[in-house]
Amino acid sequence: MSRLDDCREIVRQLWPYLDGALPDEWQVRVVAHLDACTNCTSHFDFARVFLEAIQRSGAVSLDVEPLRARVVAALEAEGMRAP
Ligand SMILES: [Zn+2]
Repeated sequence: MSRLDDCREIVRQLWPYLDGALPDEWQVRVVAHLDACTNCTSHFDFARVFLEAIQRSGAVSLDVEPLRARVVAALEAEGMRAP
């Protein structure tokens, strides 16, 4: 598996990771990857800030799933670019 494929796999776990819904084996894998990959760290930082902003806004009734899908799609598109 190439490093780029690895990054795309990790980015797919972004939301469950932030939700604390990730199985232990994936949690370990994500944390280890973020330790070594500044590219993904910036993605996760962005997503965490984004999620916190939504939660702070108190928009409980807001349907965040379409937003999540768009953010993940944007991150994956960015991850597919050659460095
Ligand atoms: Zn990465």
